[in-house]
Amino acid sequence: MPNSIIEINSNALKNNISYIKSLLDEHVTMSCVLKGNAYGHGISVMVPALQAIGMNHFSVFNSLEARQVFEKAQNDFCIMVMGDISEEDAEWLVENHIEFYVFNLYRLQYMLNIAKAKNIPLQIHLEIETGMNRTGFNKSDWQEVVNIIKNNSKYINVKGICTHYAGAESISNYMRVKLQRNIFKKALKYFKNEAIIPERIHSSCSAAILAFPKDNFNMVRIGILHYGLWPSRETFISHMTKYNLSQSPLQPILTWTSYIMDIKHVNKGAYIGYGNSYLAENNMTIASIPIGYGYGYSRSLSNQGRVIVNNKRFSVIGIVNMNMLLIDITADQNITINDKVILIGKQGDYEITVSSFGNLTDQLNYEVLSRIDKDIPRVLK
Ligand SMILES: *Cc1c(COP(=O)(O)O)cnc(C)c1O
Repeated sequence: MPNSIIEINSNALKNNISYIKSLLDEHVTMSCVLKGNAYGHGISVMVPALQAIGMNHFSVFNSLEARQVFEKAQNDFCIMVMGDISEEDAEWLVENHIEFYVFNLYRLQYMLNIAKAKNIPLQIHLEIETGMNRTGFNKSDWQEVVNIIKNNSKYINVKGICTHYAGAESISNYMRVKLQRNIFKKALKYFKNEAIIPERIHSSCSAAILAFPKDNFNMVRIGILHYGLWPSRETFISHMTKYNLSQSPLQPILTWTSYIMDIKHVNKGAYIGYGNSYLAENNMTIASIPIGYGYGYSRSLSNQGRVIVNNKRFSVIGIVNMNMLLIDITADQNITINDKVILIGKQGDYEITVSSFGNLTDQLNYEVLSRIDKDIPRVLK
């Protein structure tokens, strides 16, 4: 038996996808972002789960993730690499018609050489620098990019033009993102004038489809929302207000459970766990759970986290260890070894949310999820 399990709820996923689609015009393709092991949900279960409900466009960060998606995907699907390509994977990418971002002349030339050697055209997305100042072609490069594309039209298919916003999840970045949208539109015009008119134009992540719904172009790249979580508390509140909703239309799809490994009694006046961060002020019953920061359960949840056992909430006491944490079960003498423990998820009237983790540890939803150990088994429910 593994020391913990992650369950993915396919009904909740279905609900989230149809809600997101209801926010998009018919002609807008939704690409599901599966970087970071599908935000900790597991690429290997997310790909079949998404394909089962008709989602076939997948975005990943690197070529290793592209391989993981490729291994699980069936029939018609599209994989788009938004970031890193290792040199060992470059040929494989071209041979399998994997789409990828091009954001500098080095990559364009490097991949073009492979395309020529193999006589297989590249499927590229031109990433435009619009103000995030991370990756993307600056305006000064545009003409040279056009020249290379035109001189090698047999080997380069410009599948898309795209950019990424520097923080659409907060109103404090509004002006910066607005400027980015203007620059992106100028770039689209520039390439159009050069007769480079790609099939896909995309700039929006989850926060951007909520904040700038008019600028979805014809594809959006959605990560956090389809997992049932919000990019930030601010986007959540403003969305709820805008549509006058009383309850989140999204449902978290991940449940992380472990079990009670051991139970023991501790006398009043003793310290519990490493150091002196927790002093037993009464006689106590404590239980250990074989999960710690080595699996992504943050050490910052020491003396702060909550778990659910048998429909009741219990507190994490003492320091979270690499492989173990302790909880106070003094209030429930019925708990026994092997009882199920909910680390993230819902049971009865209680729920431990990813965002509550985040609030206690000052981590983003994105960070909490992507740090969950890749080796924990994921199952689709
Ligand atoms: C992660 C990422 C997204 C998805 O972001 P969400 O906020 O999870 O929707 C979209 N585009 C790029 C380039 C990304 O890196």
